[in-house]
Amino acid sequence: MTKVRKVLVAGGGVGGLCAAIALTSRGVEVDLVEKRPDFNVPGVGLGQPACALRVYREFGILDEILDTGFSYNHMSIFDPQRTLIAEHRFLMGGNGLPAFCALSRSSLHSTLYRRALSLGVEFRFSTEVAEFVGPLGTAVRFNDGSEADYDVVAGFDGIRSTVRQFIVGDMFGPRPSGIGAWRIQVDRPSCVTGMEFLQGIDGKAGAIPIAQDKMYLFNIRPETPGEIFPREKLHVLLKERLAQFGSYVAEIADSLTPESPIVYGALEPFIVPYPWHKGHVVMGGDAAHIVPPHLTAGAAMAAEDGYVLAKLLLSGDGSVDDRLTAYGKVRFARNAFVYTFAREWLSMEQSVHSPADLAAAKDEYARNADGRIAVADRILDAFEC
Ligand SMILES: Cc1cc2nc3c(=O)[nH]c(=O)nc-3n(C[C@H](O)[C@H](O)[C@H](O)COP(=O)(O)OP(=O)(O)OC[C@H]3O[C@@H](n4cnc5c(N)ncnc54)[C@H](O)[C@@H]3O)c2cc1C
Repeated sequence: MTKVRKVLVAGGGVGGLCAAIALTSRGVEVDLVEKRPDFNVPGVGLGQPACALRVYREFGILDEILDTGFSYNHMSIFDPQRTLIAEHRFLMGGNGLPAFCALSRSSLHSTLYRRALSLGVEFRFSTEVAEFVGPLGTAVRFNDGSEADYDVVAGFDGIRSTVRQFIVGDMFGPRPSGIGAWRIQVDRPSCVTGMEFLQGIDGKAGAIPIAQDKMYLFNIRPETPGEIFPREKLHVLLKERLAQFGSYVAEIADSLTPESPIVYGALEPFIVPYPWHKGHVVMGGDAAHIVPPHLTAGAAMAAEDGYVLAKLLLSGDGSVDDRLTAYGKVRFARNAFVYTFAREWLSMEQSVHSPADLAAAKDEYARNADGRIAVADRILDAFEC
C-alpha cells in the first residue's frame, strides 16, 4: 500500500478545513492554500444535521459548536400568514446529539480553523494552484511562482473550482436554475424555535435559529440568472419580495434599511458523477456537488467528504487510485441522494404559481410532508465516524 505522507488541500471552507483536520489527525502533513487574503467568511448561517455533528464530535469540537449555536429537533411548514400546515420531528441524532445545530458560518469556520491550526496544518492565504504538473498532477505550481510536490492534492475549492476544471474540464459544473436565495441575519423572535418554511406563491420564506438571540431569514424564489442587484437597493428589493408574507416576516420586511446585511446568491445545483479524481488530484464539497439548501446539508456533505477522504486514503487497501475511486464512489452515492431529494423539494415548492396551486400544495404537505422528510432523516442520519 502506497503511503500518503503529504497532502495539499486547496480551499479553506468547511470541506477543506474538515479534510485538513481529518488528515493531520491521521499523521499526514497538510498544506492548505486559500485564495482569499484572510478568513473573513461571507454568509449567514448553517444548519448542521446530526451526521455533520458526528464529524465535529470526532474532531473534538462538538461542545464548542453546540455552545455557540442553536439546537433544534423539529421543523414546521406554514402558509404565507404563518398558519401551520405540517410539523415534523426529525428522526436524527440521539445519544447526546441533537437532530440539528445551526450557527453562523463565521462561528463554525473559526472553530474549525482553530482546530486545524492546533493540529499543525500550514495555511497559505492569497494562494491558488496555477498548474497541476506531472503524470499524477501533484507537482504543483502556485500563482506566486513557487512549486511543491505532494502525494495527493485535495480540491475543496468551492463552486468555481480549479481542481474540478483539472479533473473533468467543463463537462460537469454549475448551471443556472433560475432560482435565487435571499438571506439576512436578524434577532430571533421567540416563536421561531426550529427550522421553518412559509410556502408562498412563486417562492417561500423561512427562518433558521442560529443562536439564542439570532436567526436568519431567507426567501427562495425565481430570479433572472446572472442578475447582479445593486447593494444599495437590496433592502427595497427584498421588502418587495416578502410582501405576500405575514407574521414576523412582515415585521422584518418593514424594518429593512440600506444598512441591512442582506446576502443574495443564485442557486446553481449540479453533481459530478464519480470518479472524483484524476491522477492523484481529487475533489469534494461544493467543488463536486452543489445541492439546493432544502435539507440544509451542503456544508454537512462537505464535512463528511473531508472526513471520508482522509479515512479511505489512510486506511483503505490497494493503490492510491483504488482508494480515491472508493472515496468517489461512496461519496457520489450519498451526495446524489441529497441532491435528488433537495432538487425535488425545490421544484415542488417553486411550482406554486397561483392560489389554486397553493391550496393543492397545502393539502399535499398536510398529507405527506412529515413522512417524506422522515425518509430523508433516516438516510441523512445513516453516517457514522
Ligand atoms: C442559500 C444557501 C443556504 C445554505 N444553507 C446551508 C445549511 O443550512 N447547512 C449546510 O450544511 N449547508 C448549507 N448551504 C451549503 C453550504 O454553504 C456549502 O455547501 C458549503 O459552504 C460548501 O463548503 P465547501 O468547503 O465545499 O466550499 P466553500 O465554502 O465555497 O469553500 C471553498 C473555499 O475555497 C476557496 N477557493 C476558491 N477557489 C480557490 C482556489 N482556486 N484556490 C484556493 N482556494 C480557493 C474559497 O475562497 C473558499 O474559502 C447553503 C447554501 C446556500 C446557497
